[in-house]
Amino acid sequence: MTKTATAASPYVPENLPAHIRHYINGQFVDSVGGKTFDVLDPVSNQNYATAAAGQKEDIDLAVAAARKAFTTGPWPRMKPRDRARILNRIADAVEAQEDRLAELETFDTGLPITQAKGQALRAAENFRFFADLIVAQFDDAMKVPGSQLNYVNRKPIGVAGLITPWNTPFMLESWKLAPALATGNTVVLKPAEFTPLSASLWATIFQDAGLPDGVFNLVNGLGVEAGDALVKHPDVPLISFTGETTTGQTIFRNAAAHLKGLSMELGGKSPCVVFADADLAAAIDSALFGVFSLNGERCTAGSRILVERAVYDEFCDAFAARARNIVVGDPHDPGTQVGALVHPEHYEKVASYVEIGKSEGRLLAGGGRPERLDQGNYIAPTVFADVDPAARIFQEEIFGPVVTITPFDTDEEALELANNTRYGLAAYLWTTNLTRAHTFAHNVEAGMVWLNSHNVRDLRTPFGGVKASGLGHEGGYRSIDFYTHQQAVHITLGTVHTPKFGSVETSAATED
Ligand code: NAD
Repeated sequence: MTKTATAASPYVPENLPAHIRHYINGQFVDSVGGKTFDVLDPVSNQNYATAAAGQKEDIDLAVAAARKAFTTGPWPRMKPRDRARILNRIADAVEAQEDRLAELETFDTGLPITQAKGQALRAAENFRFFADLIVAQFDDAMKVPGSQLNYVNRKPIGVAGLITPWNTPFMLESWKLAPALATGNTVVLKPAEFTPLSASLWATIFQDAGLPDGVFNLVNGLGVEAGDALVKHPDVPLISFTGETTTGQTIFRNAAAHLKGLSMELGGKSPCVVFADADLAAAIDSALFGVFSLNGERCTAGSRILVERAVYDEFCDAFAARARNIVVGDPHDPGTQVGALVHPEHYEKVASYVEIGKSEGRLLAGGGRPERLDQGNYIAPTVFADVDPAARIFQEEIFGPVVTITPFDTDEEALELANNTRYGLAAYLWTTNLTRAHTFAHNVEAGMVWLNSHNVRDLRTPFGGVKASGLGHEGGYRSIDFYTHQQAVHITLGTVHTPKFGSVETSAATED
């Protein structure tokens, strides 16, 4: 039986806004046409606020403000050290508001409070990291002996459109905001419509830190309205998007008309592969955390566990016993390990996969709503064993606390199963055999691999997926590359030698 944390009456933070507005050119504003949408919390599923629903005309205003701040404002022209000072002040403010941020994030998303706290610190770290990086940044200069000097003139690109999802919203926004701003761009952020609450804190944080007006703009709204208008806007040369693969495909098509720079962090169905020679206790800890932390609403969740047959039964028994013991309940309770799924629509989607799974696998734990939690978007950590690779629950991203377990007999079969989906975001491998670990890592179709480790990531490393999981890499200097032009400047040293076209003295020789 799933453990539940008590939820006497739903927790509501103090001083919640009743209405969430856009932030354009240094002002909090409503939509030009006055349109709004309702925002609910995932525990009571009651609307707690309305938010301005951005339309094309609101995006136009935000892009115009960002464009003006880019072409005539100080931000792109400031010395990296001066921008870094502001970025560090932003990081200080995020850290100082850690408790409030975590409280709002937990209220809006249903993430357990202990996991939401980590998100605020990580968001601050993103700003510090890029503040450091731009100050240390240098570019190539090449001497072509006796003839030329070539160097790279790195420049911000313009208005960056940032479109983000609802899982860990504040942290994922920081992931894009920090490098886009650090490199001197101006931005329009379109946060996810399910979770607009924490994004509304950015405006004041940026204002107080001294970011010039127009550099940061935020337009709330639906993806098909505000998001779509941002993607199609001719003055937005860059789109950094995190979200579902199908949305990424739509954005890819819509961005083609203007040949925009695209960075796409998309869905996943990542394998966690456990060999018989692994430290089984460590593998079980990691596999559980990997799929059930953040309510399973995690792009890099190890949602397909593959286990070598020699330890399969032992693994399944121990894993399922622990899954049944996970504390599900009130996201604000520090004892909670799995909270409420973000929205009733998403709850319905995950619950429908749980039902599908009952005919596709052997149910070992969970299987629906936990007892005693008859309100709110709660799903018990659900474990299906003996799942065939053709099953929908093996192939499709569920994005909730649901995991499949499948046995394998050989290294080749493990690799084949691991690669047997359209996705390729992350892979986790547990083995004490060094050769096997590296061979598997090199052959698995995944943008990121963790060997004998759960998902911990240094900010310098590349982040991104292959196949249907994404396009391009961000992380460390790769983000700097995405948000900048690297213009090559060539200058002659000494006398310039140019073929003399049209001169009577010239030979027919030509050069490029
Ligand atoms: P989603 O694709 O539904 O929405 C993401 C954002 O795109 C939202 O802001 C939404 O309003 C906007 N959007 C929707 N349609 C649009 C359109 N036509 N044009 C422009 N914008 C549009 O995704 P979601 O449900 O919010 O998030 C969950 C998904 O995100 C999962 O698939 C998850 O794997 C993925 N994700 C990936 C990563 C990663 O780094 N790879 C990280 C987190 C989440």
